[in-house]
Amino acid sequence: MKEFKAESKRLLEMMINSIYTHREIFLRELISNASDAIDKLYFRSLTDQTVGLSREDFRIHLTPDKEARTLTITDNGIGMSKEELENNLGTIARSGSLSFKKENDTGDDVNIIGQFGVGFYSAFMVAKEVEVISKAFGSGEAWRWNSTGAEGYDIVPAQREQAGTTIILHIKDNTEEDNYDEFLDQYRLSDLVKRYSDYIRYPIQMEMSRSRKKEDSDEYETVTETETLNTMIPLWRKNKNEVTTEEYNEFYKSKFMDYEDPLLVIHTKTEGTATYDALLFVPGRAPYDYYSKDYEKGLQLYSSGVLIMDKCADLLPDCFSFVRGLVDSQDLSLNISREMLQHDRQLRLIARSLEKKIKAELLKLLQNDREKYETFWKQFGRQIKFGLYEGFGANKDLLQDLVLFHSSAENKLVTLEEYVSRMKEDQKQIFYACGESIARVEHLPQTELVREKGYEILYLTEDVDEFCLKMLHSFQDKEFKNVSDGDLNLESEEEKKASQQQTEENKDLLSFLKESLGDKVKEVRISHRLKTNPVCITSEGGLSLEMEKVLNAMPSGEAGKIKAERVLELNYDHPVFSVLSKLYESDQEKLKDYAEVLYDQALLIEGLPVEDPVAYTNKVCRLISEK
Ligand code: ADP
Ligand code: MG
Repeated sequence: MKEFKAESKRLLEMMINSIYTHREIFLRELISNASDAIDKLYFRSLTDQTVGLSREDFRIHLTPDKEARTLTITDNGIGMSKEELENNLGTIARSGSLSFKKENDTGDDVNIIGQFGVGFYSAFMVAKEVEVISKAFGSGEAWRWNSTGAEGYDIVPAQREQAGTTIILHIKDNTEEDNYDEFLDQYRLSDLVKRYSDYIRYPIQMEMSRSRKKEDSDEYETVTETETLNTMIPLWRKNKNEVTTEEYNEFYKSKFMDYEDPLLVIHTKTEGTATYDALLFVPGRAPYDYYSKDYEKGLQLYSSGVLIMDKCADLLPDCFSFVRGLVDSQDLSLNISREMLQHDRQLRLIARSLEKKIKAELLKLLQNDREKYETFWKQFGRQIKFGLYEGFGANKDLLQDLVLFHSSAENKLVTLEEYVSRMKEDQKQIFYACGESIARVEHLPQTELVREKGYEILYLTEDVDEFCLKMLHSFQDKEFKNVSDGDLNLESEEEKKASQQQTEENKDLLSFLKESLGDKVKEVRISHRLKTNPVCITSEGGLSLEMEKVLNAMPSGEAGKIKAERVLELNYDHPVFSVLSKLYESDQEKLKDYAEVLYDQALLIEGLPVEDPVAYTNKVCRLISEK
């Protein structure tokens, strides 16, 4: 008996012992090898008359035998000579094996290999003995290779008519934990072929026994027929113009278990630094668990039509995690013997290319079918905004053109581009206002002046919105500005002068009010922005009142801990102001009460909690009952 080379031995042991969850992939590996062998002979047949086979003659055959506990996989491909059996099945003497050995101390890494294909040796996950009977094309002799696992293998002469390879797996006996019978079951095998090898280009056949009702009788009989298990032509390999919308939709629904048609289909063939076919879908509706941590993003990954990974997360950036679909690339090998790092580089190239593609297609949708895009935005806009926020600006170029907000001017969703294109000549900033609903934002006192000046305001109603804009900082060099910020700078020189004078004249009143409110506010000032409302609260510094609200609502934050720097603004032209002035002269106790009532009112307008609702109500009632 010949021993396996050292690396092979180690690998074999690891494979058999560590990759249990994925042991079914042995079938995919053996079928892929058979398909490769047929490919080789097929190409040979194009130039070599002596092959004597045409394309239709090639096939892969599966034969489960429950009695003998064997599963046989036969192909009429190129076959292997004695030397090839030795070299190909007796060694894994490839560059990958070395780095593989070094890098694979942890269980996780072993799992990665399982997902990327483990080649011929994976047969030992389900078989206690593997026999390979092969005859190389053009050779007069056949050979039988067999091995019971890590110990080694034997090669002896054998008989075989045609060129090709027959692999006989002696399926392991069941143990208490593991049942291997499934690999002898025709339905299970048929499912596995459908799942992993549906798009292999040659027919994969098996004798299937089905019971069928006899004609003109109520009796049933068992009929055994050779069935082809795979469909052979991947939809994504076809040209776009050969595929109907219905076909795309059906494919999506059956493959990705959705009952609704997709909103968008992206079918692309890309060549260049990354060569791949991709068929991607944007679902019509966010899955129920989409915004939860249970949701798993990822695309199916195929290597030349063979499934190698079901949810490859690395192919999709988080901001596009809603995309379903698959990628098929020839650049990826099924085999672990390739450098794993190389896999990663290829994957990254594909991922980057996909990211651009998805963005381009979404932009196209935005430009060509606004209604559909808005449907998309309702479902997944939140994710795009999170993407902007979480990338700390890194995703700016990728995502900023895809974002929509409600506009005060248009009363509908607009893009940042549209906003900027409408900006007035003297307008330097992109204004926005926050609140829990459009109606509430519209009534914010702080929006009055900005609107009166004729500036458009973006209404932000989701918790992530302002964080997202803060991260963007600017769009086409125009800074984002919350209308509740302290320094809006909207007044003319005259207005500035007038309000300076008013402030000067009422200096004592303002500082009295500040004193009585204590550290609830940083300052009380005369407002430049109020028109019809008597008071409002604005904030100074980077943290807005809306952000304060969101941060305090987070489960991690201790409620109430985070505070924006608040400024109470008073409307000089409002009757309330003259009452305050008078009281400052006549009744400072009452003025204190008023200050507090006004402050609480400003909080209410802003949608912020009043610190002591009972005290507030009592004060208001006292005022009402006064003569
Ligand atoms: P890979 O397929 O990535 O090369 P495997 O471990 O799956 O790695 O197979 C090792 C080699 O054994 C193949 O490259 C091929 O040369 C040979 N081989 C395996 N199965 C067959 C087959 N059915 N017919 C011909 N050659 C085969
Ligand atoms: Mg292989």
